[in-house]
Amino acid sequence: MRPTLEPMAAKTILNRVRVPAMPFDWSINPYRGCQHGCSFCYARSTHAFLGRPADDTFQRHIYWKEGAPDILRGQLARMARLGRMPGHVAVGTATDPYQPLEAKAKLTRGCLEALADYGVPFSVTTRSPLVLRDLDILRRARVLSVNISLHTLDMRIWRRFEPASPAPWRRLETIARLADAGIPVTVFAAPMLPYLTDTRKAAAELAEACAAAGAGRAMVDFLRLQTPEVKQWFFGTLERHDPELVPAYGRLYYMRAGLPDSYLRPARERVEAEFRRRGLIGRKPKEDVGRTPVDGRFGAEGTGGTDGSGAGPVGRADGHAAAACDEERAGSGCTPLQLTLF
Ligand code: SF4
Repeated sequence: MRPTLEPMAAKTILNRVRVPAMPFDWSINPYRGCQHGCSFCYARSTHAFLGRPADDTFQRHIYWKEGAPDILRGQLARMARLGRMPGHVAVGTATDPYQPLEAKAKLTRGCLEALADYGVPFSVTTRSPLVLRDLDILRRARVLSVNISLHTLDMRIWRRFEPASPAPWRRLETIARLADAGIPVTVFAAPMLPYLTDTRKAAAELAEACAAAGAGRAMVDFLRLQTPEVKQWFFGTLERHDPELVPAYGRLYYMRAGLPDSYLRPARERVEAEFRRRGLIGRKPKEDVGRTPVDGRFGAEGTGGTDGSGAGPVGRADGHAAAACDEERAGSGCTPLQLTLF
């Protein structure tokens, strides 16, 4: 079924994230809703903020932010004039920035170009090989990490819980091609699903495949069912495909969003041990692989900038903008936020 596509007016594209536990201060989400429709997606709840149901409407009604790259360039130009460029920007915290619509709309591509031109360091989180289309930008940008979300190699589990995302093997290929291109790649092994993806055998196979593909790091986290809408949707999926697990999940998630410590602690140790054994946990994150500042500037090495303002992409990207930004309630299966909020 073709999704309904609706343009959405946005005043800002770069949104402030005030969550101290997060490794980034800013986020960009060029879309609202996600065609991948993962059953565990926290971001499903964000559709309610738009007055839409948090059911499969999240997958079927996609909002795209009109003129996102130009709006972002305007924001960056203003921040550059103030000498307060953003630090780590996370692209794709409440949607997959490389969902199918991006192939035509190219909003994510435009936003990455803007970040690259202004020398802003960023990470991108996705499940899609479409990110490879933008290798030309990633190669010249200050990419901290491309994060590929992948929690299973089991085709049955994948298809049941991620009805429209790219297959696991395609994501492994994506990891390999990114790594070959010298782009730092992190695997987000999340959300781990109790009794399904968190066995020692499944974790070992996943970790082995990710390491062989060339991933540099991995982060592991477990299913969280943060809101009633998400919990209801997930349990509906479980009931359809794995009804025998419903009572066990019911006990684990009864009146709570996350797993009880009695389950979580050994499961986390078991899964992380497999990634650690293969060197994917315990490594320091890549700090900055982009261009170095020239005379205090990033970007076009002393030229007048890219937005026609003459201000240019100035300033070291370690400050925080004073400008007020509309903060999105972010967090999805694609993102570092997922690791905390799922
Ligand atoms: S988890 Fe990520 S890919 Fe899946 S529906 Fe949510 S935003 Fe999309």
